[in-house]
Amino acid sequence: MNATRTAFLSRCRQGLDALRAEGRYREFAELERDAARFPVYRRQGRDVTVWSSNDYLGMGRHPAVIAAGQAALAAHGAGAGGTRNISGTSPLHAALEAELASLHGMEAALLFASGYVANQSALSTILSALPGFHVLSDAKNHASMIAGMRGLPGVTRHIFRHNDLADLAAKLRAVPEGAPRIVVFESVYSMDGDIAPIGAICDLAEQYGAMTYCDEVHAVGLYGATGGGISERDGVAHRLDVIEGTLAKGFGVVGGYVAGRAEVVDHVRSNASGLIFTTALPPATVAAALESVRILRADGAPRLRMAANCALLKRKLDEAGLPRMPSESHIIPVMVGDARAVREVARRLMDEFAIYATPINYPTVPRGGERLRLCATPFHTEAMMDALVVALRAVLPAAALQAAA
Ligand code: PLP
Repeated sequence: MNATRTAFLSRCRQGLDALRAEGRYREFAELERDAARFPVYRRQGRDVTVWSSNDYLGMGRHPAVIAAGQAALAAHGAGAGGTRNISGTSPLHAALEAELASLHGMEAALLFASGYVANQSALSTILSALPGFHVLSDAKNHASMIAGMRGLPGVTRHIFRHNDLADLAAKLRAVPEGAPRIVVFESVYSMDGDIAPIGAICDLAEQYGAMTYCDEVHAVGLYGATGGGISERDGVAHRLDVIEGTLAKGFGVVGGYVAGRAEVVDHVRSNASGLIFTTALPPATVAAALESVRILRADGAPRLRMAANCALLKRKLDEAGLPRMPSESHIIPVMVGDARAVREVARRLMDEFAIYATPINYPTVPRGGERLRLCATPFHTEAMMDALVVALRAVLPAAALQAAA
């Protein structure tokens, strides 16, 4: 054992002990997805109803999506076999990029390994393109966007209050005359379920000469007439410079992308380290995602069923006096307000009621904002909702229930 290793291991143990003491130690529940019975999973020989899947529309179990993936797996093999530059680009990759560009009414789109990598890699590449960029970043932006904006030489970050147009305007006004600027924000915020005023943000960006970068990760597939997200729903996609999305949530597969003007996408494609130096997505994944995007562009029924189910669940939670946070979207947070309590609530839901709901802790939400994060997919039944309400009434601490009353 050398001294560095000893010190390092001791630091690891201390850090982990501190997480345990605070009730923030992460435990991953092993849940086996059953494609035929979604959202019922198997865990330790039991059926468990999952209320926290990000496969919001259940597209990951759609027979046509599975068939497309299986066919590509059989035809092309398991992996892409290289980076995009080194024999890893197939006609399927090109077709999916064309489909995503068309979905958003943009000139071009570019695939990444995940939504996280897309944000981190595309943002850092965009911000390095012009000297002295000022980036206006919403206070609740996701970790992947922060990773793409942080620590870049010559880049100044201004954090504006969450969804606060007056604060954004004030911060834009304070940017030095002539300096390049970009507003970076999300459409649907994944922990509170609120929605950005994209059109009004674009108005300010125009007024102050800023570009716009919008993360639609929690909206693509789910909103808009063809699943193009909130920017499609609000008729403002053409006003955004970059739309970033994922294939992992509404589309139910995996992968991320950016879409925008041809020069912007080509610039990112030619310079982004997180694209150039990593293996391309497997063809089977790309084929499954392509099928999913095509299905959701043509058929709005899954979106309507999800919206109806979310409205019904919200109503049932309210009628039962449960501490649901107000949310404009399919994301339904239930406030608990304490790190240990939220873990205990999740544990009891699982042990006593065979229900899985993810406990959300600091730093994903502020301390005191610990919550369960629920989503009703098109496949949750009313009987499942009633069972969830009964279980929550039984396991939520009195303080959380009183806060709702
Ligand atoms: N952007 C936001 C707002 C997210 O919430 C997430 C993940 O939850 C990501 C990006 C990353 O997406 P992916 O899961 O595809 O990596």
